[in-house]
Amino acid sequence: MDDFSTRSTELSPVIGLTGGIGSGKSTVAKIFQSLGVPTFNADEVAKSCYRRHPELRNWVVATFGQACGVVENGSLIDINRAALASAVFDNPTGLNALNAEVHPLVQLDFNRWHAQQSRHPSVEYVVREAAILFESGTHVDCARIITVQADEDLRVHRAAHRLGVAPDEIRNRIQRQWTDKKRAQHAHFALDNNAENALLPQVLQVHERLLKELSGRK
Ligand code: ATP
Repeated sequence: MDDFSTRSTELSPVIGLTGGIGSGKSTVAKIFQSLGVPTFNADEVAKSCYRRHPELRNWVVATFGQACGVVENGSLIDINRAALASAVFDNPTGLNALNAEVHPLVQLDFNRWHAQQSRHPSVEYVVREAAILFESGTHVDCARIITVQADEDLRVHRAAHRLGVAPDEIRNRIQRQWTDKKRAQHAHFALDNNAENALLPQVLQVHERLLKELSGRK
C-alpha cells in the first residue's frame, strides 16, 4: 500500500481515520486518545468554522440564502447547519464550493495543532479523523489510513439514534458518501465495528503496528 504522506520529517506522522456515517470513527478516536495518541476531529472543527469566521458566514448567506443565517440583534452570528445541508442537498456544485471555502480553514487549524503536538517528544503519531478524508483529498497528508466499517443497517440505527434524525435521512447521506468497500481499497487498515466490544483489540493491534512501522520517523 502506498505511503501518501507528503509531510515534513520534523512533524509527527499523520494517521487518517475515516469511515461512513455511524461507522464508529469517534469511538475509535476515543480509544486512540486513551492510548495517549493526540486526535484531531476535522468534522467537528469544520462545524465550528461558521461561528469563528465571519467572512465564511457572509459567504454562505450570500451564496445559499438568508435562511441559512442565524441572526441575533441584527448580526449574523452563526449558520443554521440544517438549512445549509438542505441547500446543498442534490446540489453538488454548491457542495463543492462550500467544501472549497471550509477546507482551507480546517487545514490551517490542523497545521497549527499538528505543529504543537509534534513538539512533544512522546508523540509518535497523531490521528486525523474525517468522514470525507478521501473525498477532500486530505489522505495525501497521511502516512497510514484506517477505515472503520459496519453493516449499513447497524450504521443507520446507530447514527439515527445518536443524531436524532430519521433513518431515511441517514440512508440518503450514506448514498452520497464513498462505500465501505471503496474506502477499504484505499486504506491500510480496515476495522470491523459490527460487534459490541470488537474495537479495542483491533485498535491495540493497529497501534502496535504503527509504533513499529513509524518509529524514528519524526
Ligand atoms: P458520525 O459519522 O455520525 O460522526 P461516527 O462514525 O463518528 O459517526 P460514532 O459516533 O463513533 O460514529 O458512533 C455512532 C454511534 O454508535 C455512537 O452513539 C456510538 O456510541 C455508537 N457505537 C459505535 N460503535 C458501537 C459499538 N461497537 N457498539 C455499540 N454502539 C456503538
